[in-house]
Amino acid sequence: MRDFSEYIRDLPDFPDAGILFKDITPLLGNKTAFHEAVEALASRFESKAIDVVVGIDARGFILAAALAYRLRTAFVPIRKRGKLPYATYEATYELEYGMDILTIHQDAFSKQSRVLICDDVLATGGTLAASVELVERLEGELVGIALLAELTELEGREKIGDYEIFSLIES
Ligand code: AMP
Repeated sequence: MRDFSEYIRDLPDFPDAGILFKDITPLLGNKTAFHEAVEALASRFESKAIDVVVGIDARGFILAAALAYRLRTAFVPIRKRGKLPYATYEATYELEYGMDILTIHQDAFSKQSRVLICDDVLATGGTLAASVELVERLEGELVGIALLAELTELEGREKIGDYEIFSLIES
C-alpha cells in the first residue's frame, strides 16, 4: 500500500497550543492520493457486505461519502448537537476542556444494518467512542472503523470496544 503520510501536513499548535494538527487537505487536493486512499479503505471492507457508511462531522464526511459511493452503500452523518433537523439520539464525549455532544437521526438506519464508521483522524478516541455508542444505540451491527490517520501515542483505540479499526497512517 502507498505511504500516504507524505500527504498529511503536520501543523504544530493548531488550533491550540500543544496540539499537532494533522491537515489532510494535501491528500484531498492530490487526485491520485485521494483516489488511492478511498480505494485502500474500500478494498479493506468491500467483502464485508456493508449497508451504511457513517461519517463523523465534519472532515469525516468527505471520506465517508466517497467510501459509501465506492461501496454502493447508504451514507449517514453523525453531527454536532443542533445540526440534525429530525429526532436524534445523543452521545456525550470529553474534549480536552469540557464536553461535547454528537447526534444521529433516530431513523438513520434499521436494526442489524451492517455499519462502517469513517473519520479522518483518531486522536484521544472520544469522538469515535461516542459515535460507536450511537451506532450501538440504533442496534446497528458495527463491522469496522475506517480512518485516514491514527495518533497512536494518544491510545484512542483503548476507548473503543472490540471492533476492527483500520487506519491508512499510524503516527
Ligand atoms: P478525538 O476525539 O480526540 O479522537 O478527536 C478526533 C476528532 O477530532 C476527529 O474527528 C478529528 O477530525 C479531530 N482531531 C483531533 N485531533 C486532531 C489532530 N491532531 N489533527 C487533526 N484532527 C484532529
